Amino acid sequence: MGSAPKVFVITGPSGVGKGTLIRGLLERMPELELSVSATTRAPRPGEQDGVDYHFLTPEQFQARVAAGDFVEHANYSGNRYGTLRSDLEHRLARGAGVVLEIEVQGARQVRAAMPEAVAVFIAPPSREALRARLVGRGTDSSEQVDARLKTAENELEAQPEFGHVVVNDRLEQATDELVDIVQSAIGRPADS
Ligand code: 5GP
Repeated sequence: MGSAPKVFVITGPSGVGKGTLIRGLLERMPELELSVSATTRAPRPGEQDGVDYHFLTPEQFQARVAAGDFVEHANYSGNRYGTLRSDLEHRLARGAGVVLEIEVQGARQVRAAMPEAVAVFIAPPSREALRARLVGRGTDSSEQVDARLKTAENELEAQPEFGHVVVNDRLEQATDELVDIVQSAIGRPADS
């Protein structure tokens, strides 16, 4: 069991439903923990500092980049996002498997730094479905939706780079597939 993978990277375009799928994964596998990222993006209504993200100013973020505090970091739609080494290592040290919900550039960096990490690309059933979801969740302005869709075009091209792809068409089936990938990587049979 010592060599079982402990870091699970869930990537794919914004709006594809990574967050919802990960909630399902964590419900089914409570031994996993979700890493809390840092970002320079402003909190959305209801988001809490230290819970949803560590919300940093651009200056604070840059200082932490310079200090080498990030496992990976990326620019996304005009903001910066990154996985804090301290957050990840703290969770791994207490024996948890850790899930990273990150965009594609960051996922590439984690794969390069930790080849043993398991990376799963979440794909939309179609580009139209992705647009509908980004608009429908109502968290972004129409300019932001357009910017995210433009980024999504590039992100979708990265799909073949990732060892596992889950198409998020029907939520329940996609959650089952994600759980199967993680459980078989850890090396134990599905228990539900
Ligand atoms: P949002 O602004 O919708 O919360 O996140 C925008 C994008 O940034 C999403 O694709 C999300 O998965 C990604 N993201 C969140 N945290 C991180 C991180 O720590 N690193 C990277 N590279 N991307 C992240």
